[in-house]
Amino acid sequence: MKVLAVLYDGGKAAQEEPRLLGTVENKLGIESWLKELGHEFIVTSDKEGPNSVFQKEIVDTDVLITTPFHPGYMTAELFEKAKNLKLCLTAGVGSDHIDLAAANKKGIMVAEVSGSNVVSVAEHAVMSMLLLVRNFVPAHEQIQKGGWNVADVARGAFDLENKVIGTIGAGRIGQRILQRVTPFNPKELLYFDYAPLPEHAAHTINARRVEKLEDFVAQCDIVTVNCPLHDGTRGLINKELLKHFKKGAWIVNTARGAICDRHAIKEALASGQISGYAGDVWDVQPSAPDHPWRTMKNPLGGGNGMVPHYSGTTLDAQIRYAVGTKDILQRWLEGKDQEAQNVIVDHGEYATKSYGIHERK
Ligand code: NAD
Repeated sequence: MKVLAVLYDGGKAAQEEPRLLGTVENKLGIESWLKELGHEFIVTSDKEGPNSVFQKEIVDTDVLITTPFHPGYMTAELFEKAKNLKLCLTAGVGSDHIDLAAANKKGIMVAEVSGSNVVSVAEHAVMSMLLLVRNFVPAHEQIQKGGWNVADVARGAFDLENKVIGTIGAGRIGQRILQRVTPFNPKELLYFDYAPLPEHAAHTINARRVEKLEDFVAQCDIVTVNCPLHDGTRGLINKELLKHFKKGAWIVNTARGAICDRHAIKEALASGQISGYAGDVWDVQPSAPDHPWRTMKNPLGGGNGMVPHYSGTTLDAQIRYAVGTKDILQRWLEGKDQEAQNVIVDHGEYATKSYGIHERK
């Protein structure tokens, strides 16, 4: 059997730090295991264009392993070329870089390591809220540049306490964020999701559901985005919706970059319609050096909390998704059932309700 993995380059960092498991160098820690079982295992970061290792090797690959951090975009066109492909396995959470409709058409299973990095992302989202609301980045930059002007940075700084905080998507990550911000004494917690909070979460999280997206954003001081990217969420936060936001609101998006329109966000930030935008996800990854989100600013010269896609790939998370990847692969090789929570599509249909509402066949 041939297994192909598209991972990110670790370089010197991966040589020095073996716990960087999700890298080309450290190969999710599964190379010797797969080779002992007699399987071929190809690992690459080279993923763009028809001559890339990914696009050349996919033609006779049986199992494809990808990661959201350096996504090997598995398009409908590539599914047509991938004659032997039977399983697409995401080492992490979020399989939007796989054309799920095309996988369904071909009857190919897509699985991910559900839950593996949800705490890592929730912590990053809370940190991002704080750094935007407290105007941290410009204050830190000022100090590094040798400056000292309290008023310049205090004029854009607020408390998290008494703010209305809302999440679009109240699944594993959304719920964990709401739990984690509760001790900050927010004015209210809101959520927008087509699914109500499950009973166990509704007991512990005091959040009000708002049914209409425009009404939801109009009430929030901070909107955090935590839904998967699919046809119903691509470009969801666009020029039109941004008009409904509270003036000066903050947005934290650690879900997927393409849920927000890149130009509309930049313009809303520049005009002061929103005060800040932070996150680690970009509409295409790696992002181009001239992507507007790298340098966009609010009228006070702050409000940008963007970083590369790393919130879900802490060293703690990497152990969990490497172990989970091996478990999915082992079950598949032994013909055992997968854990239901890890299956995204199988036998030509969606196995989860998270990627939009689909009629079951
Ligand atoms: P989850 O499946 O537990 O929850 C997703 C929630 O979004 C569900 O409750 C679902 O009903 C809701 N949803 C779907 N479409 C919606 C819509 N149109 N409007 C409102 N709600 C909608 O998933 P999760 O584990 O919480 O992860 C969510 C997403 O976060 C992933 O799909 C992935 O894109 C992203 N993620 C990012 C990182 C990172 O490193 N930045 C890591 C993990 C996950």
